[in-house]
Amino acid sequence: MSDTPQYPIESGCPDGFQYLHPVMKKNFGNWDFHERPQPGVLRHVAKSGDEIWSVRFGTQRQLGPYEINLLCDIADQFGDGYIHFTIRSNMEICVADAAKVEPLIEAISDAGYPVGGTGPSVTMISHTQGWLHCDIPGTDASGVVKALMDELHEDFTHEKMPNRVHITTSCCQINCGGQGDIAINVQHTKPPKINHDLVANACERPSVVARCPVAAIRPAMVNGKPSLEVDEKKCICCGACFPPCPPMQINDADHTLLAIWVGGKHSNARSKPMFHKLVAAGVPNNPPRWPEAAAIVKTILEAYRKDALDWERTGDWVERIGWPRFFELTELPFTKFHIDNWKGARNSLNASTHIRF
Ligand code: SF4
Ligand code: SF4
Repeated sequence: MSDTPQYPIESGCPDGFQYLHPVMKKNFGNWDFHERPQPGVLRHVAKSGDEIWSVRFGTQRQLGPYEINLLCDIADQFGDGYIHFTIRSNMEICVADAAKVEPLIEAISDAGYPVGGTGPSVTMISHTQGWLHCDIPGTDASGVVKALMDELHEDFTHEKMPNRVHITTSCCQINCGGQGDIAINVQHTKPPKINHDLVANACERPSVVARCPVAAIRPAMVNGKPSLEVDEKKCICCGACFPPCPPMQINDADHTLLAIWVGGKHSNARSKPMFHKLVAAGVPNNPPRWPEAAAIVKTILEAYRKDALDWERTGDWVERIGWPRFFELTELPFTKFHIDNWKGARNSLNASTHIRF
């Protein structure tokens, strides 16, 4: 063993600038305009006259060594050896020569990856981790994405929506969270079931009590052991107590369902940022193809495609036509569960860009 002390290796995200295509580096901050010659292809023209094409395609996001090697080989052979990922897990391969674009698209398509996701299309669903490597999901996320994007393949490879559509999925109800034009999120429908034998050994009870947003958890002695109890009348079935205390099991094959939300938007382009609203609750969480959730998403997309004006995002569209008309057009049932009657939001939800403590 060496006597030299070993220092920790900082392994955070490296500076991305070093990986940019040389044309991007050279013209950084000096672009004149960009256009989309065809779905999946961006052409950026710099003030210097330099041009660069980016070919965008969907990936499975959870890439293994086989896929990474395959895609990097394509980037080396048909591109200029530079790739990057978009925030929605699309990959882009950049070339500085227009003649390389078509052979590159062909190589990507031959490898089974769809080229698209630009402009007014349904781009890749942004999703959380699901069963793959998180410890609290109530459903899969990657699986929902695969099943849905198979159905929406045509909407990814063509630009035929009024504006871009960002779909998100979230596999528990509280953490990574989905907020998008259409969001498919887990919905728990019953309070957690407590395994009292394990609580004392596995959970730090004060932090679990503090975690509950509606103060429904209390310390309790059960069978002579320190444990917890839940006031089920107060519990909103959010699942926030499960991560710090796994013996408070809330996931359940019959009662962990999906909910679909519409109209969320982060950007302030053309209209202000918006929270999405619940439009379908109690949707079966039905792997491996989630047909019920897929059918609802497709119905909403079709109504949006037919009825929205150019450049309206889903939220803008619904704001213009009104929610009653949205439920008429989509034929989704409107129930009492769609009415947001919670009064605490103003005090406890941070709906502005200001940081509060
Ligand atoms: S949404 Fe929840 S379950 Fe899914 S990866 Fe994030 S924390 Fe884990
Ligand atoms: S599920 Fe949510 S509301 Fe219910 S006890 Fe747990 S933290 Fe509280």
